[in-house]
Amino acid sequence: MNLRIPGPTPCPPEVLAAMSGQMVNHRGPEFSALLTKVTGLLKEFFQTSNDLLTLTTSGTGALEAAVVNTLSPGDKVLSVVIGNFGERFAEIARVFGAEVVMLQFEWGTAADPEAIRQALHGDPAIKAVLVTHNETSTGVTNDLHTIAKVVKEFDKLLLVDAISSIGSIDLPVDAWSCDVVVTGSQKGWMVPPGLAFASVSPAAWEAFRTAKMPRFYFDFGKAKKFADKGQTPWTPAISLYYALGVSLELMKEEGFQNIIARHTRVASYTRKKMQELGLSLFADEHCASNTVTAVNVPQGVNVRALLKILKDKYGVVLSAGQGKIADSIFRVGHLGYVGESDIDAVYEALRESLSELGCKVPLLT
Ligand SMILES: *Cc1c(COP(=O)(O)O)cnc(C)c1O
Repeated sequence: MNLRIPGPTPCPPEVLAAMSGQMVNHRGPEFSALLTKVTGLLKEFFQTSNDLLTLTTSGTGALEAAVVNTLSPGDKVLSVVIGNFGERFAEIARVFGAEVVMLQFEWGTAADPEAIRQALHGDPAIKAVLVTHNETSTGVTNDLHTIAKVVKEFDKLLLVDAISSIGSIDLPVDAWSCDVVVTGSQKGWMVPPGLAFASVSPAAWEAFRTAKMPRFYFDFGKAKKFADKGQTPWTPAISLYYALGVSLELMKEEGFQNIIARHTRVASYTRKKMQELGLSLFADEHCASNTVTAVNVPQGVNVRALLKILKDKYGVVLSAGQGKIADSIFRVGHLGYVGESDIDAVYEALRESLSELGCKVPLLT
């Protein structure tokens, strides 16, 4: 199967093989050495000297951790929302008692930093800003660098969902003053689902000291205390750490700048190939993502039928849309273990499948 969804993503054979290793004592020296190694490499990819915590959870658990470790019930937060995952981040804050001010932008576009400035200017009680770096549901990357500058003009805490960006799209955590940045193993990291990583800045730790939202499993304080002795507070998904150790070595070998460049290249290749088929792109081209491309479903085509033919006949697995655009777009994931040839296979399969559904390809636009 050519799994081209925006996570979980395919894993290199070496990464899969690493997971067959025997268990070790998670309170022993072998695990401690592995945890120390992966933490160091992750910090390089996060471009940070902040604390870097690894959690056994999917990405959403790390979003919850970012919220509950820095905020108290009643705290006012600004949620910048450009799609489904931005809504989820806001919902987590709301569930734990934050007063959430929503700043929404049309799906398919990026957030306007000036609107964020206006919102912060108009409401000094806001304590933190929640933002999605790369909105996987719409295939849009926010201008996080500019957004971060605005947030820091007002000296607010910046919590970033970088689940489908960091490691594939440049996000220098320290240079951009991001306080908590989270990601998940099954996106660009070429590791199966189940681990999440979070960087925590000194300002985030300061917020942690007075944050009163309930937390137990995701307590950053406990995670840090154990990380300092090469452990995790709870039993870690040891096999996934084996996989992570190998994938980070592969990534280091390829080189961080080369990985970013490859994602840039494959993304623009994907957009070009979709347009060659006569398909139109959902996201504004100025903010189109380098890890996922959202494509408008052509008139008269049922997205479920299209995805089914792609998979059953051609072995290509793509994603439908989410939320209010569930039926009007499909998404091609191109993050992690991916190159142009994978996109060629998507192109061929789409051309054949669309023809079978009665479209004349290339479509007339
Ligand atoms: C995948 C994803 C999530 C959800 O992560 P899970 O690992 O499924 O919990 C959240 N935000 C973004 C931007 C994502 O791409």
